[in-house]
Amino acid sequence: MASEQRLRHHFLEQAVEGARDALQNVPEVAERLGGMATELSKIGDQLFIANVRKGELQFPKRYINSEGIPLIAVHRGTKVHVPEYAAKMTPRQEAGLRQRLGTGGDYPPQDMYIRTINDHLAHPTNSDFQLSKGLAQVRAADLQQRNPSRYFAGNNFAPAYRIYGRPLLALLYGENQPVFAASPMLHEYVHLLQAFRHLEPLHDEATPIHTADLNKELEAYMFIGPVADCLQTAGLAADEDENQLRIYKDLVQRRDDSGQMSQLQADYLRFLVQ
Ligand SMILES: [Zn+2]
Repeated sequence: MASEQRLRHHFLEQAVEGARDALQNVPEVAERLGGMATELSKIGDQLFIANVRKGELQFPKRYINSEGIPLIAVHRGTKVHVPEYAAKMTPRQEAGLRQRLGTGGDYPPQDMYIRTINDHLAHPTNSDFQLSKGLAQVRAADLQQRNPSRYFAGNNFAPAYRIYGRPLLALLYGENQPVFAASPMLHEYVHLLQAFRHLEPLHDEATPIHTADLNKELEAYMFIGPVADCLQTAGLAADEDENQLRIYKDLVQRRDDSGQMSQLQADYLRFLVQ
């Protein structure tokens, strides 16, 4: 393996190990996360290191029928093309969609749905991926930008829903890139979990897509903020853990009594993700 590639692999392995370490070897973390600790551990186990060759994401074909999640390290601004086989739904995503669609009614045979959706996931309007901001990003081909009513004509599904293909996790990599801290890594794990729950907004007629995005951010910070807190108390927090904690505290401060995302939280999150 070329040394550049070896360094990249090492960087990615360390990020996965750091997250696993926090989940398994810091008892307070597992305690604070409850059942979510198991969910996040499973996500960590699904990750595998993939390669980017000549601007294209590549992984062995044996992963196609698995729940594997490709993990890559990219320089800021580098374009990565996601090929068809990498964008299609995983078996679990497909099973979830089948279950959600149920049987009968006005629906054409489920297989036709799945084929159509997979076909569209495989031809995303923009299948070039780029990490332009932030330290990491979860990317999954989705149907958000297209007109899904074509495929679900004659039923009650809301126009604003998403169906995701296999997600990928890209970490920012560059010269002097420090080890990727556990909290931001686990934050991305929450986003990966969200990609496997991809059908949630299906019936959510009132929620515009961007609000759904802000809710996902809120969820990620709310789960991982306490993790960063535990790491800090244990003297294990890196700068990026501190950053997660700070944002979490800011979000807690902006809560209201509604139990939903408050206006102040929404404004703050919008500012963060822009
Ligand atoms: Zn996020």
